[in-house]
This record gives sequence, C-alpha cells and structure tokens, in this order.
Amino acid sequence: MYSNTSSCVNVNNKLTDWFVTEKGCRQGDVTSPTAFSIIINDLLKELTSSGIGVKINDNLVVSVLAFADDIVLLTENAKDLQKLITIVRKWSFKWRFIINPEKSQVVHYRNAPKVRTNFEFRLHDNGPILKVVDSYKYLGVYLDEYLTFTQTTSVLASAGGRALGSMINRFKKMSDMGHSTYTKLYHSLLTPVTDYGSAIWGFKGYNDLDKVQNRASRFFTGVHKFAPTVGYTGDMGWISNRGRWKINTLRLWNRLVALDDNRLTKKIFIWDRNEHNLANKSNFCAQVKQILCDIKQKDSYRKLEAVDINYSEQQVRDGEISKWSNAVTKFSKLDLLAEIKPTFGTEEYLKMDLDRYDKSLLSQFRYGILPIEIETGRYKNLERKDRKCTLCNTGEIEDQLHFALKCPIFNQYRSAFVDKCRDRIVGRDILTDTGKISALFNEQARLFGKYLRKTFLHRKTLIYK
Ligand SMILES: [Zn+2]
Repeated sequence: MYSNTSSCVNVNNKLTDWFVTEKGCRQGDVTSPTAFSIIINDLLKELTSSGIGVKINDNLVVSVLAFADDIVLLTENAKDLQKLITIVRKWSFKWRFIINPEKSQVVHYRNAPKVRTNFEFRLHDNGPILKVVDSYKYLGVYLDEYLTFTQTTSVLASAGGRALGSMINRFKKMSDMGHSTYTKLYHSLLTPVTDYGSAIWGFKGYNDLDKVQNRASRFFTGVHKFAPTVGYTGDMGWISNRGRWKINTLRLWNRLVALDDNRLTKKIFIWDRNEHNLANKSNFCAQVKQILCDIKQKDSYRKLEAVDINYSEQQVRDGEISKWSNAVTKFSKLDLLAEIKPTFGTEEYLKMDLDRYDKSLLSQFRYGILPIEIETGRYKNLERKDRKCTLCNTGEIEDQLHFALKCPIFNQYRSAFVDKCRDRIVGRDILTDTGKISALFNEQARLFGKYLRKTFLHRKTLIYK
C-alpha cells in the first residue's frame, strides 16, 4: 500500500507539484496511525525488554510512555536514560528515522534542594548534547522538575483571564442578566479552561487562578478590586476553585478504581496508594485520602470504592459554608453583612436583573465599601468613633445604617421610599435596624437599590458643594 507514494500541498486552493515521499506516514490518511503503530511497536518492545526504567513493583518496570509520535523515556538515573536513548538511536538508524536533537530534551525530576544533573546526554557519541530543561508539557500539563505545577496553573490563569475578558465584553453588550445565566456562562466558558488537569494539580490553592474567579465575582456584584473577598464570594454562592478541584479529584478517583487491573494507569495508581500507605508519601492518593477524610468518607479510600459525587459535592460545600461563617466575623468592614446574612449562598438581589449601578451600590453597601464616612474615614486614618456624618448635626457615625435609615438630610427620599415599601415588608414594625436592612435586601431589593442611588447621588452633590 505504501509503494510509489507521492504527495502535493494545497496552498490557497492551488496544488503544488507532486513530489515523491519515501519515508513516513501520509498525513491525513486514516491508515497512518495503524501504520505508525506497527512501525513503532518494535521500538517499544525493545525499550521495555531492556529492563531499564522506573520500578513500580516486582513485575512492572515502566520505561516508556508513547502518545502518537511523542515518546517519553523514564529511568531512575542518568546513566540508564542514556542507555535507553542509545536503544532509540540504534532503532532509528535501522529504520532510517531521523531524530531531531533540538526536539529531544531531558528533565531531571527531583526534590527541591537537590541540584540538577550535569550528565551529558547524546543521541550519538559525537552528536550534540541534549538540552536538560526545567519542564516538560505532557498532554497539556507542564510537569516541572520539582512537580510544583506552578507553570501549569499560571498558564491556565492567563488563559482563564483572557476567557473572562471576552466573556465580560459579551456580557456588557447584552442587557443585564441574572445570576443563574451568568453562572452558566462561567461554567461553560471559564472553568473548562481554568480547571484543565485540576484532578492532578488541584491539591492546593493557587492564587493566580483564584484571582480569575474573584474577578468574575466582582464584575457581577459590581465592586472594585479592594472589596473584601469574603463579602462578594459569600453573596455569589459559588463553590471555590479548590472546592471544584476536590470534586474533580474524586471523579478521577472514581475512574481509577473502576479501571481494569491490567491497565498500566491502574497499576501505577495502586503503586501510588501503596507508597502512601506504607511510606506516608504525600502523593496523589494522599490528597484523595485527605479530601475523603474531610468529608467523612474515609472508608471509601480504604476499600478502594467509588464515591457518590453529588453527596461529596454537598459535603465540600458544607465545609465551605462553615469556613465562610468563621471568616465573615473577622472583618470590621463586614460587621453589617455578618448581621444581615445568615449563611453563605446566592443572595436574592443578585438573582434579579437589577440595573448595574443599583446592584453595585447594594453590593458596596453590604461589604462596607460604599464611600461614606465609615469607609472614607479609613483612608484618612480616622478612628471609628470620629467617622461622623458631616451632613447632619446628629453627631452620629455615618455608617450604612445611619446613611440608609437615619440621616435626616435624606428624609424626603426616605419617606417616599417608606411609602412605596409600606405593607410590603413582613413585620416591619417590630424589626430592628439591621432586621430592616435584611428585609429590604430580601423583599425589596429593587426599590432599595433605587433609593440608595437617589440618596447617594444627592449626598455627592452636597459633599462637593
Ligand atoms: Zn447624617
């Protein structure tokens, strides 16, 4: 089938002259992968039968990973690697393959303090020295020499940042949409990018990826980058990056335990689990075990059982809810929020298609960053007790409650607002001040947003007079 083959190239719908191809597989031909597999099979056999490689157990040494034309040689030391390289060189000479030394590189995987090898790897005795580099990209994941994954995650964070930019641009052109639409967009455009391979590397937090998700939440709530994270993340009610990655890790666990015992991946997985169980290595299985312990499903780890993903997701979420409840009490800016928001979860006002400016004012009000004295006084290093309202003569601190419910300067707006809300708020006569604010957010967010806009703009004209 491969006698007298010739090819030509299609450039701008014009064909070049035909030329004879004496080597290699035809590009785009469905038989090529099979032809290539037949050819490469000998090499893989030869490498494997050398007995050189990474020892997984008494019966298994892994010396080579092959994905299409990408070949990875694995050994436990430099001399062994040179031996495998020599096997590849001899094989390629026999079959008249030319290996490009520029595209063949070495990575020395090791623990941090150890220095990189100075061994000189060569294809031929007199050939060029192969470069020893600091990372290798395998199926889209950068495996750096210390296996830190920071390179992978920073590449994903910039890709995620670009995806978010284009998502926000699209969003701006549309009329305002509710939280569920925005969430759907986020999960179809952003997380497939940012979470790529997270089952492998998502065992800890990565700041640059968290920044992407926080930016998405800030854009939707309409707050600036210095807004307290605990505030807007709690109101959005999105599970954190780390939470999603935990679930992805458990999905991979489920696939691995279901895998046939003869598969190489399964054998390596079992080896990894033994390494953790016997030598307490902090490897993949150690991470899974930690996640399963946290969500009280340790037995599944011991029994090598698949876990219920929905249940696990709920458990991870519950963990984040209690973490949030702790965190929210620690920020002085969030003292109002801590009183009006009972728990982590999507707020009603964010589910409504409110005017963007009104929504932003509502958010700023909640997170203590609306630029009234209680907040601007911070910039001037005023003590809390000195951040008094400069508009009225009540001598009260101008905090959110004073601004929205008490300052007599805004009485005319307030009585109109109260008239509109009259009878629309359940039990309003017995509510405390914070109870009123909480009821306004839950029951009258649209009116409250409009009211805040009127009073805030009026306040601006008074301040700049
Ligand atoms: Zn006042």
